Parts: sequence; C-alpha cells; structure tokens
Amino acid sequence: MTILEVKNLNLGFQCEDIFRQALFDVSFSLEKGEILSIVGESGCGKTMSAMSILQLLPKTARITKGEIIFNGENLLTKTNKDMQHIRGSKIALIPQDPMTSLNPLYTVGDQLLEIIKIHQGLSGDAAYQKAIEAFDMVQIPAAKSRLKNYPHEFSGGMKQRAIIAMALACQAEILIADEPTTALDVTIQAQIMTLLNEIKNNNKTSILLITHDLALVSENADKIAVMYAGRIVETANNKEFFTNPKHPYTNALLKSIPSNREKKLETIKGQPPTLSQQIDGCKFNPRCEYCMDICKKEIPNLKTIENEHKYACFLD
Ligand code: SF4
Repeated sequence: MTILEVKNLNLGFQCEDIFRQALFDVSFSLEKGEILSIVGESGCGKTMSAMSILQLLPKTARITKGEIIFNGENLLTKTNKDMQHIRGSKIALIPQDPMTSLNPLYTVGDQLLEIIKIHQGLSGDAAYQKAIEAFDMVQIPAAKSRLKNYPHEFSGGMKQRAIIAMALACQAEILIADEPTTALDVTIQAQIMTLLNEIKNNNKTSILLITHDLALVSENADKIAVMYAGRIVETANNKEFFTNPKHPYTNALLKSIPSNREKKLETIKGQPPTLSQQIDGCKFNPRCEYCMDICKKEIPNLKTIENEHKYACFLD
C-alpha cells in the first residue's frame, strides 16, 4: 500500500531578484513498511525533497509545482497548524545531528514526555509509562534513570536512539532519516540501522533514508532513487539497482563504494553543478564518459524498463 507519493515536485530559491530552480519534476513513492533510499552527492536535492514533505524549508525556498500525497491528502494544501500536527505524530524526522533536535536545557525525559503530551494527549503516569516503553523499544537500558539525564550525558548513538524513541512514542507512520548515522562510528551506525530495520518490520513503519552511503543502502534499502542536479536519474528495487544499474552516474557511484580492498577506488571526475551553473541538455554531460551530441542539447526523460526500474539517459 502506497503511504506517500511525491508527484512532479518543482522547487526553487529566490536569490535576490533571480529565482533558481533546484528540484525538477521529482517523483517517488513510499510503500507501507518499506525503506526507500534517496542517494546522491551533496547538493543534489535529496534533503530538499525530504524537507518539502515536512515543509521545513528555508525562507527563500518556494515550491512552484507538484503534489505530496500522504494517506490520500495533498500536504501542500495543509496549513502550518495542520503540518505541526503531522510533523512528529505522523511523519517524524531523524536528523543527521541529534543535538539539533534535543534541547540541551531540558532532560531527555522531559522532552519525550512533552511530545507524548502534545501528540497523544497523555499526562501523568500514562505518559511516563509510554516514555519508558519507547526507551525500551529503542533499547536504551535503565530507562527510568536515563529519562532523568540531560542530552550531554548521552553518547551520539544514545541521542539518536532517543530521537527515534520520540518518533515511536507518537506512532509516526513515516520516519525521514536524513543521514542518520553519518555522525556515528561504524559499530553504532550498524546498531542504529538494525534498530530502524526492526521498527520497519515490527511496526510496518515506512522509512525514507537520505544518504550518500551506498554501502548502507545496499544492506538496508528496499528501493533506491538516485538524484543528480535536482532530478531523479534512476530508480529501482535493491536487486535491480545493484545488479543491473543503467545510468552512467549510478555506475560511477557504485564504482566508488569501498567494497573490495584489493581494488583501487574510482572517483567521479568533476563536480556536480551549482544552482547558478547553466548546463544545456543532460546535467551530467560534463562528467559523463559516454556523452553524445544529443546529451548537450536535450534533457533525457525517465524511461521504464522492467520491474519499475526507470532511468533518464539516451543510452539503451
Ligand atoms: Fe551521459 Fe548522455 Fe546519458 Fe547524460 S544522457 S548520462 S550525458 S550518456
């Protein structure tokens, strides 16, 4: 069952008197109980696509076209008040740096209880029990005493678990995890991803995983969408993506995964374009080793091959 559908999303930034488009007809869907990963280099538009869902965008950003359908309703028609309710209780954000979500002046328990009070209308003992349950679910030991701690008394991994506990306490249907493990060491990264997978399987929670880490994606995502310069250039299920990648950019990304120590890692030449850079045709053409004349004149549309595998390239 499709829980979220982003359709033809166009977004740009007002830079003084010039409007610069950053997202071009971005479309993807998220099923109940699945992990969809959006991957790409910094600045490709993956975080902006995710933040559009929550409508947590910079002041200069403007959505000019598209729909974001959540449980049958277009989120782009919702008021700020509606969105405040949806954020946290229906769709929750797990940020890269959990300190940006935790207030250092209050105990983690107070912050969790406040969220339970706002989103579930519980108080007193009922709210306290819910907080303990949430800590148990994310495997924070000694929940009762840990609830009394301030954020600085938690390690990075524990802070991330506390953020996930806040999302679970509100029974969020979708978790948007924006580079959730980047700030953590490798062992803790694996623990957090195991926890997210357990939540997906046990609660049928859907997860939108934003990352540049393809090794993490290969082990965890059910479906992958690759973004380049504000466009989705390839999307496929995990098996298709890793066994039959089609877009030259996807292939270049895959060659840069550190999977084989014997093999020298390949890098992608050049840099992704900035918003102000004008590139005619396919935006990847200055970096593409297969670039043809047409690539400098026309923008390739997404074409579908088998199993909902789509890619945008003039190559067959
Ligand atoms: Fe390369 Fe052309 Fe395909 Fe773009 S359309 S990725 S430039 S071959």
